[in-house]
Amino acid sequence: ASEAEEKDLVIIGGGVAGYVAAIKAGQEGMKVTCIEKRGTLGGTCLNVGCIPSKSLLNNSHLYHQILHDSKHRGIEVKEAKLNLTQMMKAKETSVSGLTKGVEFLFKKNGVEYIKGAGTFQDEHTIKVELNDGGETTVKGKNILIATGSEVTPFPGLQIDEKRVVSSTGAIALTEVPEKLLVIGGGIIGLEMASVWSRLGSKVTVVEFLDQIGGPGMDLEIAKQTQKILKKQGIVFKTGTKVLGGAQNGDIVSLEVDSAKGGKAETLDAAVVLVAIGRRPYTAGLGLENIGMELDERGRVIIDSEYRTKIPHIRCVGDVTFGPMLAHKAEEEAVAVVEYIKKGYGHVNYGCIPSVMYTFPEVAWVGQSEQDLKKAGIAYRVGTFPFSANSRAKTNLDTDGMVKMLADPETDRILGVHIIGPNAGEMIAEGTLALEYGASSEDIARTCHAHPTLAEAFKEAAMATHGKAIHF
Ligand code: FAD
Ligand code: NAD
Repeated sequence: ASEAEEKDLVIIGGGVAGYVAAIKAGQEGMKVTCIEKRGTLGGTCLNVGCIPSKSLLNNSHLYHQILHDSKHRGIEVKEAKLNLTQMMKAKETSVSGLTKGVEFLFKKNGVEYIKGAGTFQDEHTIKVELNDGGETTVKGKNILIATGSEVTPFPGLQIDEKRVVSSTGAIALTEVPEKLLVIGGGIIGLEMASVWSRLGSKVTVVEFLDQIGGPGMDLEIAKQTQKILKKQGIVFKTGTKVLGGAQNGDIVSLEVDSAKGGKAETLDAAVVLVAIGRRPYTAGLGLENIGMELDERGRVIIDSEYRTKIPHIRCVGDVTFGPMLAHKAEEEAVAVVEYIKKGYGHVNYGCIPSVMYTFPEVAWVGQSEQDLKKAGIAYRVGTFPFSANSRAKTNLDTDGMVKMLADPETDRILGVHIIGPNAGEMIAEGTLALEYGASSEDIARTCHAHPTLAEAFKEAAMATHGKAIHF
């Protein structure tokens, strides 16, 4: 890029937030540059997050199913052997296909892509240290900060991505650890615990709170999830805090204690996964050069139009407020470009689905029962178990349920919570219902194909009036 040319939009970070904004800006006819230092586009999600983890979740589930869940279905397999190297290659194929796909979309939409690390020099100028050596500067009328997040470290435990790993190391282990200890029973902890437990590890999850699932999961669903995952062999130590850890050769040990205080014990394993959350990432961005401050959790402070206190510098994705989810980042990316281009945009923060890709999957949208209780909002509950759903029965996968929360007066849907096979796909129906302000009766009167798992969704809506047909 030449120093003289001022772009309509310069984006720092080519993760989901940054790359989606870049494509959208290109579509809107803006001159746009995206700076990314990783060497590939797609950020955490495509390179070391959503995509590689889902590849491992899918293939480890298949392996586990062949080993433990095929004989009674009439499939006898002589020998099933794990080839971890090949499983990792399959993961890498998915990742590289998608990251290259984004690069193609950049070309298609006229986005300039600079591989390097961006630092604010002044309010309109970004200095880029190029990955290939040397540096350049880029100027922007508008600048978008989309630098994402990084793992929150655990004090006293040095992450080496071999013995003490973050999710990045956990998706790239070269052998199945005999024992795996997971600190944090949130989404990353449970997805990774599932992968390695299916591949043969003895997994223990240590969670500080009394329930697993991380923030947002309905408590009733979280309890059921824990029961089901426990049946799969994962050991849970909830209400337990980690006091400290030490690495001794090939063994990592953790000292843990009841969160309320009690008798400390020592747990050891070949690998410890630190999964206690992620924190905004702004290192090296040079925010101090433009006098920009962060909030107490390190987030870039923005207004409802994604503006920082310097109005032409905006910010979206994991590095600012809200849930750290790829689809939330994507919605914001489109909205922020609309704000810049047209002056208005839209994200409905009350209607962002969450999915945990364990087996069965757990998915939800809207408010949980504990949210409603806390806010003093009246609600009616309708539940329907998959054990009463014909498709779940034919598939021999009957664990789980659909739970619907609706306003007792208006019947408007307030929240949908699903644990069950394909919950992550089914939640799209709940999200659409919530976005359109549907009532539970609207859903109950909508014809659903038979036999499908989605019939459980319809019946949960009927159950909010106590009128499910099959239960
Ligand atoms: P990021 O994806 O972190 O991208 C930011 C990019 O900016 C990075 O590539 C970084 O290299 C670059 N960058 C930073 N600073 C600079 C700089 N100064 N100059 C140049 N480049 C810079 N979410 C889901 O919705 N579904 C899932 O299934 C899911 N699974 C996940 C699994 C794991 C293991 C993890 C860790 C996360 C997962 N997430 C998932 C969360 C999801 O990855 C994030 O919400 C999403 O990536 C946020 O996008 P972002 O663009 O804001 O940030
Ligand atoms: P999280 O916030 O979901 O869960 C962290 C868990 O660790 C919580 O349950 C918390 O109580 C526990 N914890 C915190 N400190 C602890 C301590 N000292 N000892 C024991 N437990 C402790 O965070 P995460 O699982 O690390 O995930 C990070 C982010 O990535 C989340 O925002 C998540 O939404 C996102 N992500 C999403 C998906 C998905 O959408 N499927 C998958 C992976 C990650």
